[in-house]
Amino acid sequence: MGTRDTCSSCGKGLVGEGFSIFDCPECGDSIIGRCRSCREHSTKYSCEKCGYTSM
Ligand SMILES: [Zn+2]
Ligand SMILES: [Zn+2]
Repeated sequence: MGTRDTCSSCGKGLVGEGFSIFDCPECGDSIIGRCRSCREHSTKYSCEKCGYTSM
């Protein structure tokens, strides 16, 4: 709990630079990870717990 090592959008491992990990802004109960390429392409992510979706 408190971390994750894969991207919520594409499932790739979060390695190197440029990724981000943050709590779900909606429920705060799930950790969301975004890899560099998903951030650069504004790929949508969704919370596994509450279903919140954003870019
Ligand atoms: Zn990704
Ligand atoms: Zn959530």
